[in-house]
Amino acid sequence: MRKTFNGSFTQQEPIPEGAIARAVAVMRSGRLHRYNVSDSEVAETALLENEFAAYMGARYCLACASGGYAMHLALRSFGLQPGEPVLTNAFTLSPVPGAIDNAGGKPVLVETTRDLVIDLNDLELKIGRSHARVLLLSHMRGHIVDMDALMVVLSRHNVALIEDCAHTMGASWGERKSGSFGVAACFSTQTYKHMNSGEGGFVTTDDPKLMANAVIRSGSYMLYGRHQAAPDDAAFTDARLDNPNCSGRMDNLRAAILRPQLELLDDNRARWNERYRTVESALRGIEGLVLPHRPEKETYVGSSIQFLAEGLDTATLPDFITRCQARGVELKWFGDPEPVAYTSRHHSWRYIDAQSLPQTDAVLDKLCDMRIPLSIGVSDYELIGEIIAEEFVDCERAMAMPA
Ligand SMILES: *Cc1c(COP(=O)(O)O)cnc(C)c1O
Repeated sequence: MRKTFNGSFTQQEPIPEGAIARAVAVMRSGRLHRYNVSDSEVAETALLENEFAAYMGARYCLACASGGYAMHLALRSFGLQPGEPVLTNAFTLSPVPGAIDNAGGKPVLVETTRDLVIDLNDLELKIGRSHARVLLLSHMRGHIVDMDALMVVLSRHNVALIEDCAHTMGASWGERKSGSFGVAACFSTQTYKHMNSGEGGFVTTDDPKLMANAVIRSGSYMLYGRHQAAPDDAAFTDARLDNPNCSGRMDNLRAAILRPQLELLDDNRARWNERYRTVESALRGIEGLVLPHRPEKETYVGSSIQFLAEGLDTATLPDFITRCQARGVELKWFGDPEPVAYTSRHHSWRYIDAQSLPQTDAVLDKLCDMRIPLSIGVSDYELIGEIIAEEFVDCERAMAMPA
């Protein structure tokens, strides 16, 4: 009998007790709205913004309703005009083109390399063709492109960077945190990301004008003075009149459960990476299975793992996924022409202009993806890695057999 795994890939760890206690205190106070404060009280949301700004080494931070909302807010607050092109990676998840569309922009998709990062040659080509002023770079599945090389390309063409750090909260490139390279960075605290408030997001920036725009747009009314990780009132003189109120605030309840989680983020990175390396070492050295290269300068958060099933053909790949599933291991396949659950590819984003991305398509056709929840223990990841390896090798053997 071959072993199976019996856990869940969608089960998160419980919210820490300290966070629950804080949430209960907020509920007892009745003051859940971020601007509903008693005399001299600083709202949980404002405190969270201070703490996240400090963690990121950013001057300003705004907490808001979701990661997708944060991205659209960053684009609009940067000054994106209706119909403007926005560069982004073709390999990403649907909230990214969705945020560009929501901001009134037109996504220009850039090819992805076999190491799952944006292709800098194609980026340069598409900058030239589109004349875009901004790149919304999705650090998709936590893979960080050579940021030094990227910044050279962007500054050569005077293109601004906004980072989507949904999968790199807690990650770094060299000495610098992911999210500290561009004019703004966006984060998500949705359940499946690195901190869990159900829904939620952040925008961080050092630019006072961008942050003033973002605060007003997020729905501050004229209560922007209650923010702390925001610029002085002077920055709001025009911003408060020039920006619409597009309500998308965070509330004190969610902020209360996030603050204690931020303190655990760096420890959790180590816990994720121990799990990641356990699976990675079970898969290393299998012929026809390609793990993306992780550069020395990249400090990643291994909350998911990807590999290219080069040794399996398109007919066998779905079989491989099904066989892993039958043994309790939930892999996603980006090659599926039909969008499934959270996974979709650019062909199914029909609201954007169709684009030809042969290199990305070839990568996606072979790309397998697995969540690494902390709720599953390290020894279980040994079993999970073993199951994937066994099924992969079996599928390759079956393919090699004459029909
Ligand atoms: C989840 C996700 C987002 C957006 O997060 P939400 O909070 O769910 O809106 C953005 N980018 C990527 C790559 C994501 O996976």
